[in-house]
Formats: sequence, C-alpha cells, structure tokens
Amino acid sequence: MGRVSERLAGIAESATMAISNKAKEMKASGRPVISYGAGEPDFATPDHIVEAALAAAKDPVNHRYSANAGLAELRQAVAESTVRYSGVDVTAGQVLITNGGKQSVFQSFAALIDPGDEILVPAPYWVTYPEAIKLAGGVPVPVATGTESGFRVSVDQLESAATERTKMLVFVSPSNPTGAIYPAAEMREIGRWAGERGIWVVTDEIYQHLIYGDTPFASIAATPELEDRWVIVSGVAKTFAMTGWRVGWMIGPSDVIKAAANHQSHCTSNVANVSQRAALAALTGPMEAVESMREAFDRRRKTMVSMLREVNGVSLVEPEGAFYCFPSFQAHIESGRYSSTARTGG
Ligand code: PMP
Repeated sequence: MGRVSERLAGIAESATMAISNKAKEMKASGRPVISYGAGEPDFATPDHIVEAALAAAKDPVNHRYSANAGLAELRQAVAESTVRYSGVDVTAGQVLITNGGKQSVFQSFAALIDPGDEILVPAPYWVTYPEAIKLAGGVPVPVATGTESGFRVSVDQLESAATERTKMLVFVSPSNPTGAIYPAAEMREIGRWAGERGIWVVTDEIYQHLIYGDTPFASIAATPELEDRWVIVSGVAKTFAMTGWRVGWMIGPSDVIKAAANHQSHCTSNVANVSQRAALAALTGPMEAVESMREAFDRRRKTMVSMLREVNGVSLVEPEGAFYCFPSFQAHIESGRYSSTARTGG
C-alpha cells in the first residue's frame, strides 16, 4: 500500500503552472524573465469590474455562504451571454458557477466519466485535460493533429480512434495551445458524427472572445444531432483579464448539472461571492476594454508570427484565436541536436 493514493500518484503536475511558478521565483530574485507558462493576460482587470468587487466586499450579504450552484443573477447572466455569443439556448438552471474554468473541466469529467471510459482528446492539447480525465477514472485517447490540417482534427481521424468504450470528445476552439479555430461547417460535421455515435462533447469555449482571423466563433453545442449530450465549459479569466478571480462555469443538461452541483457542494461549497459579483459586472458591463485587449493581443500575435517566421528551420501555422503560437521545431529535432518532450499547454 503506497503512502499517496494510486489515483493521485498517477497524475502529473500542471506543466504550465510549474513553469509559471519557476518564472515568478526568478523574477522575485531580480532576474529579467518573460514567462511563457500559463496563459494569462498581463492587463489589469477593467476598472468597472474592480469597482463592483469593492462594493461587494463592503456588503455583509457577501460575507456569508451563498447558493452552492452560484448567485442567481450570475447564473442568469451566464445563460444570457451563452445564448448571445454561443447561439445555444440555455436557462440559468443549467449553469453551475465554479472556481474557474479549470474546475468546470474537472467537474464535467467527474460528472460524466465512469472507470474505463475512453475520452478522445485532439492533440496538441491543454495539459489539464488528460490528467483530469485520469482523475475521473477515464482513459485519455489522444488524436494527433499537425500543421498540415492546421491542427484541426477530422471526422475520419476521430472515427478511427473511437471504440465501443468511447464516451466523450473534448473539443476546444479556439484552441490552447495552437490558436486553431474550426470553421462552422467542419465543426458541425464533427458534432453530427458525435451525435450519431452517441458520444458526449465537452466543449471548452474559454477563448470565444479572442478571435483575430476571418473564422467567427461557433459553438459545437448548437449541433442538433448532439441532442442534450454536450457540456460547455468557460469562464471570465481570459476575456476579462480575471485569471486571479477564479470564476468559471459549466453548462449542460439539468441532470448532469445537478450531479456536478452535488459534487461541488462537498468540495468547495460556493465560489467566493466577491469574485462572483465581479464576474457579474464583467458579463453585464461594457465590452470596450475587452475589445482593446483583443486588439493588443492581435498586434502581439502578428509580431510573434513574423519574428518566428524569421527563425531558421521554424515553421508555424498562424494562430487565429486565443493568445498562443505553436511553432514547429521539427527540423531542429530531426537534426538530432535537440530532443523533445511530449508536454504541451499554456
Ligand atoms: N480551458 C483552457 C483551454 C485554458 O487554456 C484554461 C487556462 N489555461 C482554462 C480552461 C482554465 O482557465 P481558468 O481556470 O483560469 O478559468
């Protein structure tokens, strides 16, 4: 019998968090470090959101426990924002407020995965997905994509990776770490395939407002063939420069949300009320600050792309969304002078 449980001993540390922590330590010791660890806007949270939090902190109603599934007003605002920006018809009762998008990913897997279930994860992927799948007892099945397809997975690839144990596809567009976006028609085809096979889709829409190219955002959850076998995970962290506030959400069919809310009631109770009030101000307030941050990310994206293209032996698919570049150093690795680990993320 080991001291640490087998379940936790089998999980890797978040590679991106480890890099970020190391960078923070080096900066604290006075070294000039630019960190490419966790994906985190460097802007301050917009003023009107911070003001709402200050007011909330002064109101004793927010000093107490609150509804486990989230403040009613915030669940309503999330539902309205999802109808508006994802084009999916949902009600406040289908929304569970979580401690960041990360917890909503974890809780979605916990609510849907049974031991031995196989979960399709298009690669390269965000480091948390396979570990959270394993924690839920599932088996992550990576489906490799490369530069030739713009890092987008095809129905044929998914079909060859699927078995009778396949329970779910994890879908993310715009993607971390590649910045790839699926055109609506391509995405619908994947949704239809999953629907016809009875496979659930967990769609991570945390980057839906960070889009630079000509491909507009569309949600795979709106695919009619999926019926009610989808879960949307998202949050305020990236869009509103609110990574430290820890507010995300999970949206899905009522039975799944109820199960996840029961789970959350024993883990964390409610999300911090002050943070929820800040998230409410973010979702219901003006979007100008979001637009100017998006423009800044776009300028930086263009600089990154043009500088990477100048590096000998580096090839790059131009990212269309999120705030990542995923350059290929394949030519250098093949030269034998460098080695590569399989870790990806942001
Ligand atoms: N999904 C993706 C694809 C992400 O990149 C991240 C953050 N790196 C998250 C979810 C979680 O974000 P948070 O927990 O800060 O809301």
